[in-house]
Amino acid sequence: MAPRNNAEIEHGSDENLAAHPSPLAEKQAANPRIIVNYSKMQLQWINVGFFSVTTLLAIYGAFFVTFRRETLLCMSILYAATMLGITAGYHRLWSHRAYEATAPLRSFLALAGAGAFQGSILWWCRHHRVHHRWTDTDRDPYSAQKGLFWSHIGWLLFTKQETSSRVHIYSHDLEQDPVVAWQHRNYVWLAPTISLALPTLLAGLGWGDWQGGFFHAAILRMTLTHHATFCVNSLAHYLGEANYDDERTPRDHIVTAVITFGEGYHNFHHEFPRDYRNAIRWWQFDPTKWFIWSCSRVGLVHGLRRFPENELHKARVLMATKRLEEEKRRINWGQPVHELPHITWDECRRRNHYR
Ligand SMILES: [Zn+2]
Ligand SMILES: [Zn+2]
Repeated sequence: MAPRNNAEIEHGSDENLAAHPSPLAEKQAANPRIIVNYSKMQLQWINVGFFSVTTLLAIYGAFFVTFRRETLLCMSILYAATMLGITAGYHRLWSHRAYEATAPLRSFLALAGAGAFQGSILWWCRHHRVHHRWTDTDRDPYSAQKGLFWSHIGWLLFTKQETSSRVHIYSHDLEQDPVVAWQHRNYVWLAPTISLALPTLLAGLGWGDWQGGFFHAAILRMTLTHHATFCVNSLAHYLGEANYDDERTPRDHIVTAVITFGEGYHNFHHEFPRDYRNAIRWWQFDPTKWFIWSCSRVGLVHGLRRFPENELHKARVLMATKRLEEEKRRINWGQPVHELPHITWDECRRRNHYR
């Protein structure tokens, strides 16, 4: 793909590949690393200011404001709710349509997602659909090929790349959803109200902890939610195993799953994005899946989508075969039988005699 705007693409060493490159070398040539030249990029000052101020306030609150038990409990509940707003709502419901939700649950997830302060559903899902459509390419808004910093937060701090791909991504279904449309229209006041004012008022009016309400339940909780969900774009494309596909960067890892409320089985997710699960084993950590499943048991959710086990098994077997082929390539198998020299019995005896 041709370099765009302020990014340059390094084509790696594809000229130097041997006549018969390994599958790994072919893969690297197909998905070259993209070098982002930050010195030629412009800062998005609103985002830089927002993240700088909230991070500094969060650090101040963590070290200089006394934690109270009631506020910590409030912070934890709001943290879980806003995380689910993003993982169960923005991601699995609206971006991927992995299940159907009733209006009350959609409303709750839309409000909780606004409380995470990460943009409206419409804005977030459009970017995420582009990420899946053009994973690891220059069109991917948070391409892991541009580095850990870029995929985590850099893409929000610096001027974006080519945007035409985002304009053309399918989002008609989202625009038709009245909850999504309402949240998008009212996001400007919804986000600060739910994310900042509500926790401060709860702790302040509830048990007189105005400072803790603002610094802990609002700011610190919001900052933690930001970086936990940003890890889906960064850490989940770096750490772990490629159990279902190794053509692209998404990976499966328990650590990422714990940080991201279950979104850490990202290799599976990129292969089967419409599956409402990220973790398919009962013992794997996926609280978002548990939440969606629990909602289905009380009638708030229906139409849970799961890929057939046969398809999942097929992908795992293909990956195991690839790994085996890679191992076979590393072994020196010696001269092939059909290339061995033809020698007579006398010649054989003569050679053995001389030895
Ligand atoms: Zn991803
Ligand atoms: Zn996704």
